[in-house]
Amino acid sequence: MNSIKLKAHAKINLGLDVVRKREDGYHEVRMIMQTIGLYDKLTLSRTNNSSVIINTNLHYLPTDENNLVYKAITLIKKEYGIKQGVYVNLEKKIPVAAGMAGGSTDAATALYGMNRLFHLNLSKGDLMGLGLRLGADVPYCIMRGTVLSEGIGEVLTPLPPFPVCRVLIVKPGISMSTRYVYENLKLDAQTKHPDIDGIIGYIKNKDLHRAVGLFGNVLETVTEKEYPIIGEIKVKMSEYGAIGSLMSGSGPSVFGLFDDFKKAEKAFYQFKISNLGKQVFLTNLYHPCY
Ligand code: ATP
Repeated sequence: MNSIKLKAHAKINLGLDVVRKREDGYHEVRMIMQTIGLYDKLTLSRTNNSSVIINTNLHYLPTDENNLVYKAITLIKKEYGIKQGVYVNLEKKIPVAAGMAGGSTDAATALYGMNRLFHLNLSKGDLMGLGLRLGADVPYCIMRGTVLSEGIGEVLTPLPPFPVCRVLIVKPGISMSTRYVYENLKLDAQTKHPDIDGIIGYIKNKDLHRAVGLFGNVLETVTEKEYPIIGEIKVKMSEYGAIGSLMSGSGPSVFGLFDDFKKAEKAFYQFKISNLGKQVFLTNLYHPCY
């Protein structure tokens, strides 16, 4: 095998709580992660030289060591003494700096692809261990599905698959730095923490509506305050028939969940013609088949 084509799926957060800030500056989180059908396309090919070359459709994305795919490939090359070079074609569709783990999922997929391309026989656990060296969300992006993520994002507990629904993603024309949002998060007695255990209970009971009713993201207190458009998108989502909507990760992407597929489609077109979203996607939840 000289080449491998892969899909790097995005995630949304069905719940996101920050429990505390640790002495080392990291934030301890409790997040319910969910993979969705939206993905970047990655093609990895062996070359006859020793370098890692990245080609991407987004001119503003770094293609050097600042790209997480580059980091993932060089990490594997170094760890396993691979001399041969790799050419990567990265077709980005996942919005960048949008709270959907675009970079992390590309890195996770690059690790998975290198394992296959060079017959390294690494287990999923091995890949997740390597992934953690690249970023807190990378191990989850290797695991995928409906998962409780704790610690700094590295303690993962798979949950039963979230009930079937349509997912509408609306990303306004602003970008959010994850670091900025966490640095500006103020946790005090007034902070409203989402009931993560409650959501998990309803996911286990397959009760879509009650689970959605408890959705919450503590990071909205920072991003939505700065960008009221996030609140406006959520209001429109409900008007168009979403059973719930929330900002994903540190934002600014907002997702809405729909149990009525026709309403979801109509909402998709309404957002397409509105000026609220720069990028709009209609997709499904994605569950890996183990
Ligand atoms: P998260 O949800 O994990 O916080 P995000 O969606 O907010 O992630 P990314 O799309 O991963 O953010 O991008 C964050 C930064 O990482 C961008 O500024 C981008 O330049 C850089 N980056 C490096 N590699 C990639 C990649 N392969 N895809 C997207 N961004 C990348």
